[in-house]
Amino acid sequence: MYQARSLPDVKFSGTGLFKHEYVDSKRISKFEERIVMVEADCETRAEELILSEFGAYAIEGISFIGVYDIREMYPGEGPVIEVASTLRIFEGTEEEYVHRYWNDLRPESCDKVGWVHVWFCREPGLSACYNCQEERVGELWRDS
Ligand SMILES: [Zn+2]
Repeated sequence: MYQARSLPDVKFSGTGLFKHEYVDSKRISKFEERIVMVEADCETRAEELILSEFGAYAIEGISFIGVYDIREMYPGEGPVIEVASTLRIFEGTEEEYVHRYWNDLRPESCDKVGWVHVWFCREPGLSACYNCQEERVGELWRDS
């Protein structure tokens, strides 16, 4: 029987929707679904704590857009704890679902959607784009 749990008293999860906007107009705004856990003796207290944390997180270009979901967490028997889940009604195929809700996190390349790459240093000698999934050899962030 498994007994060790690293988060024994966590009782609620909160999922909040945030928007990231940037001073650099070439960077594309992003929406973030952020999930936190909280220990509280009731859902009302959990909601207070979570909304307070969401407000503290929303600084410097990040805004909490007021959409959130609070769920009571149920302890399981094993080492894995479900933190949050999203159930969507969708009539398409698995491939269509993945395309619409999973691969849309960032496009494959800015070139395919008409955006401008905004490079940053992924690691020495390797550039990555804030807007898309592209990485290129070189220090391209120095030119932007
Ligand atoms: Zn890009």
